[in-house]
Amino acid sequence: MTLYRDEGVVLRTQKLGEADRIVTILTRRHGRIRAAAKGVRKTKSRFGARLEPFSHVDLQLYERRSLDLVTQAETLRPYGQTLATDYPRYTAGTAMLETAERLTSEEGEPALRQFLLLVGGLRTLVEGDHDPRLVLDAFLLRSLSVAGWAPAIDECCRCGDRGGLRGFMIAAGGAVCARCRQPGAATPAPPTFALMLALLRGDWVHADGSDPRHRIECSGLVAAYLQWHLEHGIRSLRHVERGTGDTSDRERV
Ligand SMILES: [Zn+2]
Repeated sequence: MTLYRDEGVVLRTQKLGEADRIVTILTRRHGRIRAAAKGVRKTKSRFGARLEPFSHVDLQLYERRSLDLVTQAETLRPYGQTLATDYPRYTAGTAMLETAERLTSEEGEPALRQFLLLVGGLRTLVEGDHDPRLVLDAFLLRSLSVAGWAPAIDECCRCGDRGGLRGFMIAAGGAVCARCRQPGAATPAPPTFALMLALLRGDWVHADGSDPRHRIECSGLVAAYLQWHLEHGIRSLRHVERGTGDTSDRERV
């Protein structure tokens, strides 16, 4: 057995037997991992509440053939304690954890930029200086960008024109100009495009000064765009796996 250390944010926990848990953690160096924590559900657990969702922890683990085993956990930042008392911030944080898990599709694949985005996003959320919806949308836009799915915001995703943007077409890749816009495409207000760009770039002065109706419009577009890419992205990943590994599928092609 090999012992290793890492730090990570707890994304999710599941019951394992009577007293144990499987903990899903996004780590700094090992990407997303799942590990077993023994006795964590007993009242006198040596882990206490350290292995709860949102916790940023320093970990020691035993590498095993199946699930790695958590042997030590020290709290670095207990984000969950603050978030639990504030419903809007808690729901925004929950969406961040879920998105971080979905966007790190391969277990054990290093995902340093996604880890840093999550830690930064949770810290900003806990500090409470910005509307939680803006913090969430900034996190989602940047996470999409890290995953290689950044939407076009300041240019037409079809012809590349930078002026006269009139619509937003999710399947096409983002903003479209008046000529490329197809019937049925969303038509966001120009300040909504400006807000999306500010969030992607981390321009909080602009984002904090935005109008509530543009925040609502921005959130709707970002959520729809993320949803579309998660569904289609995961489907395309399955194609990649099929093409490289399984011979029975290769015969079919
Ligand atoms: Zn165009």
